[in-house]
Amino acid sequence: MSEAQVHANVYEAMPHVHPEAVVVYCGDPRLQTAFVPFVEQGLHLARGHYIPMVVGGGAGVLAYPEKLPKEFKFLKDRFELIHRAFPSVHRAVLINHEDCIYYRLLAERIPGFLADGASDVRDRPGVDLDRIAQIFQHRLLHLDLRPELYYARFTGDDHTQVTFDPVLVPGS
Ligand SMILES: [Zn+2]
Repeated sequence: MSEAQVHANVYEAMPHVHPEAVVVYCGDPRLQTAFVPFVEQGLHLARGHYIPMVVGGGAGVLAYPEKLPKEFKFLKDRFELIHRAFPSVHRAVLINHEDCIYYRLLAERIPGFLADGASDVRDRPGVDLDRIAQIFQHRLLHLDLRPELYYARFTGDDHTQVTFDPVLVPGS
């Protein structure tokens, strides 16, 4: 058996890391080719220097602690775990994206989800970022994480490109 065969199923690990950020984004396969380069090149976070939290809806559930209590708790618990396990993490990069399928599901499942008429479901993930910033600062302040919010929008012909708009966080 050759050396290559012996090691065929062995991959590199990073046993000593001091990540500086947790990054929350949606698992939507249409955007994965954009999310990772944005984080690594756009935000200058090399692999191993951030903790990816890939979850349907991205940071969106953080806007709905009352309407989506279980999902909110799921994310909150993981932020708390990261805070304890990796004290080097001080940045929380929260990304929502246009036309999120999880939002469409919420609009079907939750009566009155879009009843305030603020926007249609396609743009709602972007509209929610202001509320996510507020809730993060009220409910997750104890975690000593500085939120950085971005809205990923499709651009280009046939949605073949994605651009990331920063959203101003009040008080930071
Ligand atoms: Zn999505």
